[in-house]
Amino acid sequence: MAEAARLAWDGLLDFLYPPRCLVCEEHARPALCNSCTACFTPVPTPACPVCGRPVEGSSPCRLCAGMPTGGGGDWAFASARAAAIYEGPLRHAIHRFKYGRMILLGEPLGAFLANRLVVDGLLGEAVDAVVPVPIHPVRQRERGFNQTELLAAPVAAMLSVPLLPRALRRVRRTPPQVGLPPEARRANLQDAIAAPEPKLLAGCRVLLVDDVFTTGTTTDTCARSLKEAGAACVYVATLAAGG
Ligand SMILES: [Zn+2]
Ligand SMILES: [Zn+2]
Repeated sequence: MAEAARLAWDGLLDFLYPPRCLVCEEHARPALCNSCTACFTPVPTPACPVCGRPVEGSSPCRLCAGMPTGGGGDWAFASARAAAIYEGPLRHAIHRFKYGRMILLGEPLGAFLANRLVVDGLLGEAVDAVVPVPIHPVRQRERGFNQTELLAAPVAAMLSVPLLPRALRRVRRTPPQVGLPPEARRANLQDAIAAPEPKLLAGCRVLLVDDVFTTGTTTDTCARSLKEAGAACVYVATLAAGG
């Protein structure tokens, strides 16, 4: 009876205050509306074959070409792909999700990433497990959730492989990476990420999921830990590229 009363109350609230898209606040749709996702901009082609970021004319991109051995040879990951460019409604959605703690955006944003990877064929590689980039437990308590784990769950489900949210762990709290040059970012993350359960990863082809690919330092540090723990190879998938 209490359940019936709660459902009736929820129905009345939905009637009086129709749920709105959390990004545009216009369309009366769950969490994230189709008008918003239709505005997400795919990475234009040609894209860098290594990191998947937009390039003008020649490839690989300046970032990958500038790695010490050139051509991305020093990345620990085999390739990185992003579902869309970090701009417009997607940028807005990620901000609301991460900093506005709008947990309800996790599922539709993760589903968008999963669709781009699997249905649109952006991934193009077979993987055995999906690992989200970890955040420090203190930050996770403050935010209430790890945003990358929520993004990774629909990806693992669509690929029918296990989601391994504890394969990586932040063992040291690091200052925010925003605004730091790549070398400072790398130093900032030194020894901050560990793979505490190598038996989960032995021989595994891992898909590492993050929210935004900027300089690639975070994903590269995570990929290095995964490989040191025995992963056969690491591919990276992010919701957005740039920023
Ligand atoms: Zn919307
Ligand atoms: Zn690149």
